[in-house]
Amino acid sequence: MRRSPRARRWRLEVPWGEPARLTVPRWMSGTEIESVLEERRSWIEQQRRRQVPRLGLKRRAVSESEARCAARELTSALAEEEAERLGVTYRRIRIGGQRTLWGSCSARGTLSFNWRLVLAPLEVLDYVVVHELCHLHVPDHSRRFWALVERHRPAWREQRAWLREHGPELLAFKAAE
Ligand SMILES: [Zn+2]
Repeated sequence: MRRSPRARRWRLEVPWGEPARLTVPRWMSGTEIESVLEERRSWIEQQRRRQVPRLGLKRRAVSESEARCAARELTSALAEEEAERLGVTYRRIRIGGQRTLWGSCSARGTLSFNWRLVLAPLEVLDYVVVHELCHLHVPDHSRRFWALVERHRPAWREQRAWLREHGPELLAFKAAE
C-alpha cells in the first residue's frame, strides 16, 4: 500500500510475479482502505489465477544483452523489408525495455521495440514491427490504420490476441544479469 499526494482516487494493480499494489490518495482513511481491500479480495484472487506461467520462460535461459541483440537484428531485418513494401522510411530503431509497451513510433521516425518481443512467437514480433511501420502512414488507431494493417498482415487479430493473453507474463520477464 502506498499513499500518493497526487492520486485522486485509489488504484489497485496486480502485477505479474509481484505483490498486489494499492495506491491511495492521502485523504483516504484506514477504514476505507480496509473496505476496498475486502471488496476486491476475490478480484485480486481472480487476477492471480490467470497469472499462471504458460510460456515456459526460464529466467536464466537468456541474458538481457543477448536478447537485446537478437531483438535489434530481427526488428531491423523485418523493418527494412517491410518499410519498402509499405513505401515508408524510418530514421532509426531503438530497443527498449519498457514494462508496459511493445513498440512505438515517434513523429520523427524512430521506431522503438521492446526486447522481450524476441521471446514471443516470430509472427507476433513481425506484427508489432508492421504495426509501428503502418503508423508512419497513419499515426492514430483509426479505421484507416487497421485497414492498412489488415492489408499487410491479414492475421493481425491473432497476434494481437496473443499479446493480450500472454503479454503481461512476457512484460514481467526478467532476464539474468
Ligand atoms: Zn499503434
